[in-house]
This record gives sequence, C-alpha cells and structure tokens, in this order.
Amino acid sequence: MSICLRPHHGMCFQFYEGKGYSEDFTDHMGRVIRKCEEKPDQPITLTCSTDVVCKNCPNNESGTCTTEDKVQRYDSEVLKACGLEDGSEISYKEFLMLVKKHVIDSGKRKEICGDCSWDYICSKNG
Ligand code: SF4
Repeated sequence: MSICLRPHHGMCFQFYEGKGYSEDFTDHMGRVIRKCEEKPDQPITLTCSTDVVCKNCPNNESGTCTTEDKVQRYDSEVLKACGLEDGSEISYKEFLMLVKKHVIDSGKRKEICGDCSWDYICSKNG
C-alpha cells in the first residue's frame, strides 16, 4: 500500500530540520521522511487531505487541519506547478524532484507558502 502525502509536504520535506508543532509531531515527521528516503522508488499517492504527516499533528482535529483553507491552497498550487492532480500516484523520488524543479528552483515557493509560520526556515535555506 502506498503512502498518502499532501502535495505541499513535498516542500516541507526538503527543508525539514527537526522543528515542528510538538515533539511528538517532529519525531513522527522525522521518521516518515527517513522511511521515504530509505525507499525512494516506492509509490506515493498525493492527497489533498490529512496524510501520514498530519497523523501526529496537534492541528489535526478529527482528520481535518485547523488551517485547512490555507493548506488546501498550498496543495493546489504545488499540484498545478508540477502538472499533477489530487490522487496522482508517483514515486517519492520523482515527486520530490518535480517539486524541487518546478516550485523551489523556479522561485515559486515563497509565493505559494510565504505566509506559513515555518517560512523563516525555508527562506534561510533556499
Ligand atoms: S494537520 Fe495541518 S498543520 Fe498539521 S501537518 Fe497536517 S497540514 Fe500541516
């Protein structure tokens, strides 16, 4: 069974440095990233709703993010930039490569998620 990932988490994964909403959340997110990186060819399913990362997030209220409008916007913009859709299946490696190319290296990241509370981390790292 493939891992479900919110499209905008393809940006978060590339700048993650162990900070997050709670210790439980960061421990879990670190484990998810390591697991994905151990098997980069594994298929993931892109999903514009709570995913494997959201599982341990304090902002996940019964399966809905408390900032759902904002994160839905991030998800849609990432999908559009990468030419993908909600529900697309793609390898982890290929997805991260598309996000790097079409969102990060193309300079779109800031306009997509510049209002995120963690933007200072991503801004200083690229
Ligand atoms: S619940 Fe919301 S804030 Fe928490 S990881 Fe998911 S999208 Fe991010």
